[in-house]
Amino acid sequence: MTACGGEATNEAPRSARPVGLRGSVLGLYLTLECPGCGQAFEVYQPTVAGMAVGCHECPRCHLVSEVTPDELETALTQFAPTRSFAEMEALTAEAAHLAENWYRTPPLDQVLGWQGLNLGEPAERWLAAFFVQGLLAGLGQGED
Ligand SMILES: [Zn+2]
Repeated sequence: MTACGGEATNEAPRSARPVGLRGSVLGLYLTLECPGCGQAFEVYQPTVAGMAVGCHECPRCHLVSEVTPDELETALTQFAPTRSFAEMEALTAEAAHLAENWYRTPPLDQVLGWQGLNLGEPAERWLAAFFVQGLLAGLGQGED
């Protein structure tokens, strides 16, 4: 087994250059440029304690490549600008407010009502994380 989980060869996997990145609640989606043919393709990049793990196969030439920790760090710095604690705190508060109130707004309170229960309420917790992502994306677009 190699680091990529494939058959052992004498050749180390070539490194792919991240040319884009989008965060998600569950992990990173990187756009990689294939070191073999130059094809750009998006992959899910699992990380363990901030380290990239796993390898990626180019959909065009099937070359298997990996993202090194240095390249991942460079991509994070370039494509995911860091936010101050105050900014993140304000975003989190705004997301929580949205998540806790969207289903109480007419006519949603009526539409989502069922036998005295508001069916939107259980979605509060998991929606907050998506609202944070949406607000972050909105901030990113305003900075170009
Ligand atoms: Zn390729």
